[in-house]
Amino acid sequence: MTTFSAEKIRQDFPLIKHHHKTLAFLDSAASSQKPHQVIERMDRYYRYEHANIHRGLYALSEKATQAYEQSRTTVADFLTAPDPKEVIFTRGCTEAINLVAHGLSHSKLSARSEVILSVAEHHANIVPWQMLAKKIGFKLHFLPLTENGVVDIEVLKELLSERTTLVSIAHVSNVLGTIQPVQAISQLCKDAGCYFMLDGAQATPHLEVDVTSLGVDFYVFSSHKMCGPTGVGVLWGKRQHLEEMPPYHGGGDMIEKVTVDGFSITDIPHKFEAGTPHIAGVIGLEAAIIYLKSLDRLGALNHDIELGIYLREALRSFPYIRTYCPNTTASALTCTSFLEASWVGIVSFSHLKIHAHDLACFADTYGVALRAGHHCAMPLHSYLKTSSTLRASPYLYNNCADVDRLIEALHAAEKVFLA
Ligand code: PMP
Repeated sequence: MTTFSAEKIRQDFPLIKHHHKTLAFLDSAASSQKPHQVIERMDRYYRYEHANIHRGLYALSEKATQAYEQSRTTVADFLTAPDPKEVIFTRGCTEAINLVAHGLSHSKLSARSEVILSVAEHHANIVPWQMLAKKIGFKLHFLPLTENGVVDIEVLKELLSERTTLVSIAHVSNVLGTIQPVQAISQLCKDAGCYFMLDGAQATPHLEVDVTSLGVDFYVFSSHKMCGPTGVGVLWGKRQHLEEMPPYHGGGDMIEKVTVDGFSITDIPHKFEAGTPHIAGVIGLEAAIIYLKSLDRLGALNHDIELGIYLREALRSFPYIRTYCPNTTASALTCTSFLEASWVGIVSFSHLKIHAHDLACFADTYGVALRAGHHCAMPLHSYLKTSSTLRASPYLYNNCADVDRLIEALHAAEKVFLA
């Protein structure tokens, strides 16, 4: 029996409460709304606890340092990671991927190397590799998808070789909402002796993540998609890999000693956290994790999936609408464990007669917030042979009334645009 109640959750989100009569916010995959618990924690920090961290010799700074480092422990626990030192705070998922790309570029990637991505990647997991490939000369491969919207394992098996340095894919697609068969991929990467990185930007808002049992080398995510503040994210990496990688930025906090002749580097995690970090953001991220962990997370996932199914079924009555989400039956999509889950409820769709941008702008006049365009996944849109889609991404605080509002807006749009 689930204890999850979206109606109760809605009370925790000031923005949702404030706009409840006029807004159906269906763009949480871009950035989620924030519960008052997160807002109040950050407010408290700025009002009563702020000081710079790691260098102050006074109580206030020590307290701020403790709060910042406590968040590292909470993140490690959230990812079921063995050691908080393996948690690096970044500006977000994008910066975390760039950090790994930079780190591997120094001694692990050469012109002979190959890196395997998928066609479903967010640009954050494509462009850093393309930039490096151009500089170093290694080859990039893009895995195709199966009918179920996950990477084709058979093609991966063919591509993997002793030249492969890294396989890097999104744990959950930000367009299709599909969950990758991570364990199978991880085993293949282990057999091939290459690194395996997961971009967890769309996974951590919905799934319980255990980096050890997933068998990954690097895992990255952003706080703002999972009820936390913007401007903060995480790179988790296996200790040995992080120790082998050079620092990303130079500056304060990442050194042991500096002379006019040079510098020596401090240990992980601080080696990767040069300069004053987003202290309030890191503390807010901890509050978001505490909030998410206080919920029945499996119930929440099934709630998101059920809303996705509700929307998918409603869209079936529109002859000109094509959906890009699993066709599987509802009973096969809802799940009794996180391991079983194959989808997080994201529904992308296109209208054969009305441009996605026109529909999104029209829906806005009905108070429906949707994403329209390529969602930073242009290669996937080319692969799907469409230039743009609309995306509805249900989350904790959405309800059937939000989906009904969207459907009403679509009917009204057809009356106007197809008249
Ligand atoms: N990867 C995926 C799958 C995403 O959905 C996003 C955000 N849309 C990112 C990476 C980039 O995240 P951020 O902009 O927070 O760095």
